[in-house]
Amino acid sequence: LQASAQANRVDENAPGSAALGYKHDATKVDTKKFPAYAAGKNCANCMLYQGKPTDPWANCAALGGKQVAAKGWCMAWAKKA
Ligand code: SF4
Repeated sequence: LQASAQANRVDENAPGSAALGYKHDATKVDTKKFPAYAAGKNCANCMLYQGKPTDPWANCAALGGKQVAAKGWCMAWAKKA
């Protein structure tokens, strides 16, 4: 179960996620390439995060339904209403 949970996580280096600047740890985002990032923005407070804000990992519609980290970020971030 652990292994399949891992396998369902987004690969930071896959072309789709890399193009969006996705990082599991938002503080590692390349802010020169992705200036839209600002401290405090993360998957947990993004409207595309398909889990509860307290879930450490959840699916993300922008990244092919794969799991992203609550502490992650990508340039498709949009503030949760
Ligand atoms: Fe995280 Fe939102 Fe980007 Fe998905 S769209 S990876 S939830 S910041």
